[in-house]
Amino acid sequence: ARRSGGIVINDDWPGYSLDLFNYPAHYSGDLDCVIVPHGVIMDRTERIARNIMDDLGDHDIVVLCVLKGGYQFCADLVDRIKVLSRNSNRSLPMRVHFIRLKSYLNDQSTEDLHILGAEDLSFLTEKNVLIVEAIVGTGKTMQTLLKHVEAFRPKMIKVAGLLVKRVPQNSACLPDYVGFEIPNHFVVGYALDYNEYFRDLNHICVISESGKMKYKI
Ligand code: 5GP
Repeated sequence: ARRSGGIVINDDWPGYSLDLFNYPAHYSGDLDCVIVPHGVIMDRTERIARNIMDDLGDHDIVVLCVLKGGYQFCADLVDRIKVLSRNSNRSLPMRVHFIRLKSYLNDQSTEDLHILGAEDLSFLTEKNVLIVEAIVGTGKTMQTLLKHVEAFRPKMIKVAGLLVKRVPQNSACLPDYVGFEIPNHFVVGYALDYNEYFRDLNHICVISESGKMKYKI
């Protein structure tokens, strides 16, 4: 059965006021609103873990964590799967591998995508692979990565993406597991950065214009 595209956050949703939550004082003025609070991320992640367990339980999987932005989601997702594995009769043996992609400068996607740590993925051959990504925008990054991984002939590839943006150029390629579908804003927090800042923020927030100016390079 086809899974849902996740929790839909509409374009007219103003987000939560920052005054309603705790966040680091060093980012005051740099954010417009909280778009997904940390607790909601955790609740949705718990359900995605269960969906993954239902689909893949009793298989061996290799989790391919896409750094840097994916580290928090991957860690929390793996953690939830571990909880399910030790509390039920089904288990999901996991290995975790990291690769690093880089394609963004400021808030603009750059044409050249770098894949680091992916030179030799031959250990993926005949394995069930779960790619874990924080965010899918146009889907170009995901497509490039999928092509690269497919070349090593895994038995199966599934993709979990915490966020999918509604962008005009969005390709047909959607993750198998989606946390949230969000408006086309540049978001930060929960390991998502803007020029390496904001990874130390636990909620997913929309960056403000002054925040963009402050950390521009
Ligand atoms: P795509 O190729 O799908 O357009 O872009 C995907 C990549 O761009 C993601 O892996 C992520 O690194 C980055 N990206 C896209 N949108 C955002 C965003 O709103 N915030 C952050 N921090 N990164 C983004």
